[in-house]
Amino acid sequence: MNQVKIFAPATVANVSCGYDAMGFALQALGDEMVFTKTESKGINISKIEGADIPFEADKNVAGVVAQLILTDSNANFGLDIKIYKKFIPGSGLGSSAASASGTAFAVNQLLDNKYSNVELTKFAMQGEMVACGSAIADNVAAAIYGGFILVRNYEPLDIVEIPSPSELMVTVIHPQIEIKTEDARKVVPQNIPVKTAVAQWANVGGLISGLHTNDFDLISRSLVDYIAEPQRKHLIPYFDVVKSAAIKNGALGAGISGSGPSIFALSKNKDVAEKVAEVMDSVYKYAGIAYNIYVSKISAEGAKII
Ligand code: ADP
Repeated sequence: MNQVKIFAPATVANVSCGYDAMGFALQALGDEMVFTKTESKGINISKIEGADIPFEADKNVAGVVAQLILTDSNANFGLDIKIYKKFIPGSGLGSSAASASGTAFAVNQLLDNKYSNVELTKFAMQGEMVACGSAIADNVAAAIYGGFILVRNYEPLDIVEIPSPSELMVTVIHPQIEIKTEDARKVVPQNIPVKTAVAQWANVGGLISGLHTNDFDLISRSLVDYIAEPQRKHLIPYFDVVKSAAIKNGALGAGISGSGPSIFALSKNKDVAEKVAEVMDSVYKYAGIAYNIYVSKISAEGAKII
């Protein structure tokens, strides 16, 4: 194989109570990338469409992850990379994670599947290190494995795939405002009372159990975040209004996607997810805030060849 064209999904990290530990992949939104082997070693990013991100291979997460894998595998070829961004960086939907995990997946295809998913996740995490300063796994693991994932442990890395109801849908609204990941991280408390921790991990257990058993009511009761959301929501205009409108109109729950500003809502079917999109849409329309909105299935698969 000399060339591969792939799709790498957008991802929602955190998932309310699963702060910094859970994520899931979207089916209807993601980047496309084309990787072509070259005789000369090294990485050349020859095309970027849809976002203002660096062409320099050592500054672009795709270049960084590709070089790491080529070096690790002692490959006797280089790569030409073309990146087609379908959603913008800084939305809280894992733009850099899509590039990092898409690259890990694609280069692995060109190496005849030398690496396992957990190894690919580790490579992709190094891309996140370049994008946001920490080698966080929730977005990249969701984009590689697909579906819902839990990052149970880092050393050693332990990614758990969580089965979920096949009809589950997500609505995501992305207000066109900028939140620096750094600022979003700063407002999250570094210490919490044990009582709060207990409430949070009880909800994580409930969410995982609800996803496993298709128990929509349990999923709904468990989509509560006592740690990040109460602080971060103030960075997102009309967060409470959007969230309560979504829930009033049938969403199982709603929360901040990654470090924001996107807001996600889970629904038990497409009709509800579309109704939720309408009401979320009307809040920002009324407020005069520009936004993008997406309705998607949870993708059962991660990055894939197209
Ligand atoms: P979000 O997760 O909110 O979509 P990211 O954490 O992906 O945002 O942050 C994007 C940052 O990573 C930007 O500063 C961007 O310039 C940088 N970056 C470097 N390479 C890429 C890439 N290939 N795709 C997206 N962002 C990239």
